[in-house]
Amino acid sequence: MSKLHKSPFALNSVCSILLVEDDENHAQLVLRHFDRAAKGQMIVTRADSRASAFELLANKHYHLILLDLSLPDSPLETTVQSFCDKFPDLPIIVLTSSDDLELAQKAIDEGAQDYLVKSELSGTLLVRSIAYAIEQKDYSLELEKSNAELQRFASTVAHEIKNPLAVIISFFSILKRRHGKELSDKTMRLAEGTEARARELSQLITELLNFARFSPELELFEVDLNSIIEDTLASEKTKIWRKKAVITLDNLPTVTCDATLIRQVFQNLIDNALKYSDQGAKVHIGVEESLNHWTLSVSDNGIGIDDKSLSSIFEIFKRAKNVGEIPGTGIGLAFSRRIIQYHQGRIWCESKAASGSTFYFTLPKQRKITT
Ligand code: ADP
Repeated sequence: MSKLHKSPFALNSVCSILLVEDDENHAQLVLRHFDRAAKGQMIVTRADSRASAFELLANKHYHLILLDLSLPDSPLETTVQSFCDKFPDLPIIVLTSSDDLELAQKAIDEGAQDYLVKSELSGTLLVRSIAYAIEQKDYSLELEKSNAELQRFASTVAHEIKNPLAVIISFFSILKRRHGKELSDKTMRLAEGTEARARELSQLITELLNFARFSPELELFEVDLNSIIEDTLASEKTKIWRKKAVITLDNLPTVTCDATLIRQVFQNLIDNALKYSDQGAKVHIGVEESLNHWTLSVSDNGIGIDDKSLSSIFEIFKRAKNVGEIPGTGIGLAFSRRIIQYHQGRIWCESKAASGSTFYFTLPKQRKITT
């Protein structure tokens, strides 16, 4: 989440905004809102055409563009696209009038983070939307970067490891089939053991490739998280009973998310909470509300995780040192992190060896902020 910390809000530093607005009255209105709500916190520079905006953007770093769509030197329908093409890393909020909502929605589809209706503008709304848009852009850039890395990694793995491994496995099959009778029992056992290990390795690589190629089309609906937890706990019933676990719950909110994927995250976290705890496990599923997102948590009183391992457990195949004989592949948390990233949230863990762990993840509230 390194990008996140670049956010001027996370750094508590001044945020530079480029306001691209040709209408003098509208520009003054926006500037007055800034003056009231964000004095000293945001520096706003104004451009009154696309050309002058491009020039300013080429010469100075801005954190966000506040963009009116109708500029004298840009056709209404292509304004957002032209800014996104030239400055793909910059978040954009579109300023629109109330009869232009279709156009505003098109702007979001083209890559703008949000839109604000000029007649409904307030200082608070402006500041909140800007903070949110910068944060969301950081997430999507981070996601794009890690996706590209993963795709490169996956194709290397497929060519360099999986194919030769398939050849090794088929050699062992041929050896057993054609020369099995010539081999001593001991050699045969060795050959079978080696083939079995090669198959396990091949299975792990398949899971790694599935993970690397995981890029779901989210099916977003309003979902009551209480019902997701109810489902998950029902499927974990046997494990809960075996561990004589006590599960406590906060009342969870309804959020916009992909129910199947978020259920998978809860399932993984609850499964781990039980797996890495002794008999009499205590697991709590909680929630905290913030301005723009919900923070969900799953905590346990289990074996905990040492400081050193904490930073790596969300990477694929990484397991903490204290797992001992507890079975696992180190894939679940890596998958959970991908799912949460796709939801524009983040996931992290706070823990101390031998004193239990709490896993947190955030889910944004509605993308479009209204007053
Ligand atoms: P797995 O459990 O299959 O190894 P995960 O990706 O789910 O894979 O978890 C990665 C590692 O994180 C685990 O191997 C374990 O070391 C650590 N871990 C995850 N959840 C917990 C927990 N609740 N308590 C202690 N350690 C945990």
